[in-house]
Amino acid sequence: MIDLHSHTYFSDGTFSPAELLAEAAAAGLTALAITDHDTMQGYEVAVGGEIPPGLEVICGVELSTKFHGVTVHLLGYFPVEPPAPEFQSWLSGLLETRRDRNRRLVERLQGLGIEITLSEVEAKGRSLTGRPHFARVLMEKGYVKDLQQAFDEYLDESAKAFVFREEVPIAEAIERVILAGGVPSLAHPVRVAKNNWSTLAEWIGELARMGLRAVEVYHSDHSPEDVCYYKELAIRYGLGVTGGSDFHGANKPKISLGRGVNGNVQVPDQVLLDLRALVR
Ligand code: AMP
Ligand code: FE
Ligand code: FE
Ligand code: ZN
Repeated sequence: MIDLHSHTYFSDGTFSPAELLAEAAAAGLTALAITDHDTMQGYEVAVGGEIPPGLEVICGVELSTKFHGVTVHLLGYFPVEPPAPEFQSWLSGLLETRRDRNRRLVERLQGLGIEITLSEVEAKGRSLTGRPHFARVLMEKGYVKDLQQAFDEYLDESAKAFVFREEVPIAEAIERVILAGGVPSLAHPVRVAKNNWSTLAEWIGELARMGLRAVEVYHSDHSPEDVCYYKELAIRYGLGVTGGSDFHGANKPKISLGRGVNGNVQVPDQVLLDLRALVR
C-alpha cells in the first residue's frame, strides 16, 4: 500500500514528520509522499531522521496556483532526487504572498468583530500559516463549534471573511516543477471546475498542453465514479496517474493515512513505478 499525498505540521497537518512516518509504518505503507503546501521542510526533517524499515519517503509539494481565475492545487513530485536550490528559493517567494494574505485575513476577521491577532495564528503554524490554523483559533475562542464551521462561515472561498491571495499562474508552476526535475500532477480534480465533467475535460486538455504530466485520480474526496472518470481523462490526454489520502492529522480527522475516509482510497503500488518513469 502506498500514499502519495500527506501533510505534516510544517504546513497545515498536525503530525510531526517523525509521527507521520510512524503512522505510515503502522498503516503498512511501503511508500509515502510528503506533499506539504509551499514547503519541503517536512520532507527534509523526515528523511534527516530515522526512517522505518520498508518505508520509502518521496519528496513532494502542493502548490496553490491560479487557473481560469480560480485556485487550483498542483502537486509536484521529485521521486528521483529533491529539486535544486532555485526551486526552493522560488518556493520562498510563494510564502511571502501567503504572509500578505494572512495579514489581510486577520484584518478582515477583526472587521467582523472577531478578536484575533496574526501572532496568535502564527503560533499554531511552523514554516507557514494556513487557513486551518485560523480555523483552529476561531474554534478555540468559541466563535465556531468545529473546524468545518470555521471554513463554512468564515474561511471558504464563498464565506464572509475570505480574502484573495496572489497566486502563481498554473503554467508557471508546471514549468518550475519540470525544470526542477519533477512531475506536476493536478491535485484533487474534484475541486476543479466545480467538478463539471465537460469543463474539467477541457481544462485538463489545456493543462496537458502546458506540460502537466499526471492527474491525482485517487483521493479522499473522490467518489468511485470520479475515480473512474479521472482515469479515463488521464488516458485521453496521455497523462499519468497519482493518488493519496491528503492526510492532515487532526485537521481532517476523518481521513486515515493510506486509506482515506472509510477506506475509500486504495492507491495501486504500480502508481509509484509509473511516477518514476514520468521523470524526464
Ligand atoms: P491556505 O493554503 O492557507 O489557503 O489553506 C488551504 C487549506 O485549507 C487546504 O489545503 C485545506 O487543508 C483547507 N481548506 C480549504 N478549504 C476548505 C474547506 N472548505 N473546508 C475544509 N478545509 C478547507
Ligand atoms: Fe491543506
Ligand atoms: Fe489540496
Ligand atoms: Zn493536500
